[in-house]
Amino acid sequence: MKQKVAIITGASSGIGKKAAEYLAKQNISVMLAARREDELLRLQKKIIEIGGIASLHVADVTSYNQMKMLAEDTIRKYGKIDFLINSAGIMDVSFFNDLRVEEWNKMIDVNIKGTLHGIAAVLPHMESQNEGHIINISSVAGYEVTVPRSVYSATKFAIRAITEGLRKELKPEQNIRTTLIAPGAVTTDLLKDLPDSEALQMIKQEGSFAYSLTTEDISKAILYAIRQPIAVSINEVIVRPTAQRR
Ligand code: NDP
Repeated sequence: MKQKVAIITGASSGIGKKAAEYLAKQNISVMLAARREDELLRLQKKIIEIGGIASLHVADVTSYNQMKMLAEDTIRKYGKIDFLINSAGIMDVSFFNDLRVEEWNKMIDVNIKGTLHGIAAVLPHMESQNEGHIINISSVAGYEVTVPRSVYSATKFAIRAITEGLRKELKPEQNIRTTLIAPGAVTTDLLKDLPDSEALQMIKQEGSFAYSLTTEDISKAILYAIRQPIAVSINEVIVRPTAQRR
């Protein structure tokens, strides 16, 4: 894995943050991206202290321009982009009749458009390199709709469709792989800033917090996908806690 380069969105927290650490331990140079610079700086320092190579770039995934600048900065610093891990995402749970339209739009902007912006930013570079690997983080909610996560679920179904469509469209000789990672419950900050609502209470009562996976479990799934030989493409990985049924 020497001299490989990965961009990780959502690197300031949760799944993206741990994945960045994991990849750095595999001698992959990591470009950490998110909006919170202080968190990225903390992670960069930690990675450098353990002997890894890390840079950071503040970017909001809802801006295609900022994502292009992130890709260009990575090329400037490292000369290539081998992996993109699209981990930035938000989950606002609500019932339809609450009409939280702003939150619906935000999820569409961050989860769907953010993923697309990441792909658009790195694809020209991967095409010119004739190699690359795009890893999108979906969810088990991308396979089954559960109330009150309908709009979140819709964004995760969309990420699945985008990843599969991209895989089919890319030409075999381009050597660009796609992987969808679909986690079940994972302990992170995903629900941290949500207003206490009936919808949130419903999620909490599901009990998934009692048996959640760790971010390390998801990092291992990402590593499994990226460690394969170039001729092997792991297209979808669903990782649930053993106790989780849906
Ligand atoms: P966290 O809340 O811990 O992390 C979310 C990350 O997304 C943060 O780094 C945040 O960074 C970033 N982010 C949010 N909005 C933006 C934005 N506009 N621009 C750039 N970055 C943004 O959650 P998780 O780690 O759990 O979530 C990561 C992914 O995993 C998400 O796609 C989520 O849907 C998915 N997932 C999570 C599951 C879970 O149970 N935790 C289960 C299944 C899937 P910052 O605020 O600094 O910009």
